[in-house]
Amino acid sequence: MVRGGWSGEQFALPPDPAAPGPVPFLGWVTRDVAEAALAAGGVSFETLKEAASFRDFGPVATGVTVTAAVESTMREVETMNVVGLIPGTERPDEVVTVTSHYDHFGVGEAIDGDSIYNGAYDNASGTALLLAMADAVTSTGTLPRRSLLFIATAAEEQGLLGAAWYVQVPLFPLSRTVAEVNVDGANLWGETDDVIVQGAERSELGLFAQRRAQEMELTVMPDAEPEKGYFFRSDHFPFAKAGIPSLYVEHGRQFRGRPAGWGDSILADYTAVHYHAPSDDFSPDFVFDGAVQQGRLALLTLLDIADSTGWPNWFDGSEFKAARDAMMGGEN
Ligand SMILES: [Zn+2]
Repeated sequence: MVRGGWSGEQFALPPDPAAPGPVPFLGWVTRDVAEAALAAGGVSFETLKEAASFRDFGPVATGVTVTAAVESTMREVETMNVVGLIPGTERPDEVVTVTSHYDHFGVGEAIDGDSIYNGAYDNASGTALLLAMADAVTSTGTLPRRSLLFIATAAEEQGLLGAAWYVQVPLFPLSRTVAEVNVDGANLWGETDDVIVQGAERSELGLFAQRRAQEMELTVMPDAEPEKGYFFRSDHFPFAKAGIPSLYVEHGRQFRGRPAGWGDSILADYTAVHYHAPSDDFSPDFVFDGAVQQGRLALLTLLDIADSTGWPNWFDGSEFKAARDAMMGGEN
């Protein structure tokens, strides 16, 4: 997984003269190497790992230095976020953004003789969901009061670069951006009884999702794996960092008609075998009724936000609230 995603060519946004330069050297080591290196500095890996689970953890000087010589070649490439705008009927200058990334890894290191990183689940499936949602809005004949901006983002796999770039040069001012809803990975395994809405507990947007989920008889579950930090790992995150209240609508884990734990084992298998590997490929076993549930919930939620007049904000205590409050200048 690390070799698939983190070896070979790596990308970054054009350097900003105001920001610090790129990290001069960055790499991964195995746990054995990390343990040995830390031990050489008289530090225990286990002790540090334990300490790192507390909020007050900070960098620890180990006294160990590494000398490395790395030869790099640089090139510039251009890529594009692809956007589709549905102008609002009453307040077209206020926008709800909807994101899903369309990039993956292209051609990379071969695994089992296959070097094509297809990215069927991650994220052709989410891109399809984005298109289906946009299509659904325009086919109803009733357009929302606020504008919807569908953004198929580029370079998510390179560190959310497309989304970060959009936030740097947005098409609508961020202070007129009501909310952001992201999807990344559509359900390919069947209908569920639950749904995971990342960020639902962080802002008033959660109430919108909660109401629609209830109507659809879906239980909104807390983040199944908070230790993996998924809220900080997909395209809504640059929006959240900038202050825009954000949701990330993930599919559920409790698949209808399947034994308890089936969903967890399917997804654990995906992560272990197919995640960021060439075998994330189309399978005739995929079923799409669960993706319909997921897309419907995301769409109804964002349409409710687009038809409302309020400015849902982050809850008190959220690390993203100060940025929003500053941007809105007390308008909230
Ligand atoms: Zn990915």
